[in-house]
Amino acid sequence: MEHGATAHGQPLVVYGPSSLLYDFGVDHPLTPRRFGPGMDLLRALGAERFLAPPEATDAQLHRVHEPLYVSTVHMLSEYPDAGTMLGFSSWGDDPPFYGMHEAAAAVAGGSLAAMERILSGETLHAFHPGGGLHHAMPGRASGFCVYNDTALAVALARDAGHRVLYVDLDAHHGDGVETIFWNDPRVLTVSFHESGRVLFPWTGFVDDRGGPDARGTAVNVPLDPGTSDASWLSVVERVVPALAAAFHPTMLVSQHGSDTHALDPLTHLNLTTYAMARAARLVDELAHQYTEGRWLATGGGGYDVYRVVPRAWGFVWLAQAHRDPPLETPAEWREQWAGEAARYDQAPPPRAMVDSPGLVRADVRELIDRNARTAEAALQGSLRALEEISAA
Ligand SMILES: [Zn+2]
Repeated sequence: MEHGATAHGQPLVVYGPSSLLYDFGVDHPLTPRRFGPGMDLLRALGAERFLAPPEATDAQLHRVHEPLYVSTVHMLSEYPDAGTMLGFSSWGDDPPFYGMHEAAAAVAGGSLAAMERILSGETLHAFHPGGGLHHAMPGRASGFCVYNDTALAVALARDAGHRVLYVDLDAHHGDGVETIFWNDPRVLTVSFHESGRVLFPWTGFVDDRGGPDARGTAVNVPLDPGTSDASWLSVVERVVPALAAAFHPTMLVSQHGSDTHALDPLTHLNLTTYAMARAARLVDELAHQYTEGRWLATGGGGYDVYRVVPRAWGFVWLAQAHRDPPLETPAEWREQWAGEAARYDQAPPPRAMVDSPGLVRADVRELIDRNARTAEAALQGSLRALEEISAA
């Protein structure tokens, strides 16, 4: 192969001690416990090239975040109880904790450092499992996300002159990234998610297509609860390549939230790791077809720490390393993490790398048809608008 693994070595994995500091507390679903089994599986699969995330500076954060918001995060990071005392509205599912700014700035810095290395040509593919905090808004935290590392990396690439295709595969709508580039014709965001009629953040509908200067560059494919592999894959494989062909990106950024999995406790999508693996391979193929291999992948959501998240990360790494998945997860890995899983009352890590299709019920025809119509409406609406932009 003329690209990727041979020319530039392994994909770069962003991970370091500071990755563990992003922690809203023991009862919070987004737990740093996922890095133990997750990173261990990547190493067992062969990952050897790591980059410890540096803290993003305030000046870097200001590229997408309001200075007043960043200084509020600084203050709450030092005095986590200040918000309650001062009568701020609650931060809800993002409860301030001591060191929150430093932890969140390291997530942001990790995606920025990875993007810098892609821009310099030092690496073609990079993967930041702790990144993908796609809900963070310019002026507020949302949905477990304080700083939007993904949007920061996209903005860095855009400001370096790239046309960026952002593909969001998380079960939740990528609302923060979409909002930040809503009216920016140089960034196309596409999000596949469980419908906002039933799931946080309650947004991301088919007719949401971008601002007046960028119509067609926000694409939303809201899916029915219960959607499983066949239907999800057919819409992803229909929409993403067609958008890439119309938009001609020079940079790919993706978010691989594994909360789409049937075993995930927070959503009602019904995927197996088969669909996740296929989607990661598709993004790799598009990177080599359109962006000379330039591709930053991020982890995103995923709340089944032992059964789902490590394998989902594994498939992204394998796609970036251009390697086929093994049939089974390594036995030593399973043995090593079974004990911790039991201590947290969780099912043990599974033996199969690719789930058997029997794990979930197959989609009913009606749901498949409805998702297909939704995807087609989203795609055609965007393609028409993109043509108008290029004709203008
Ligand atoms: Zn590749």
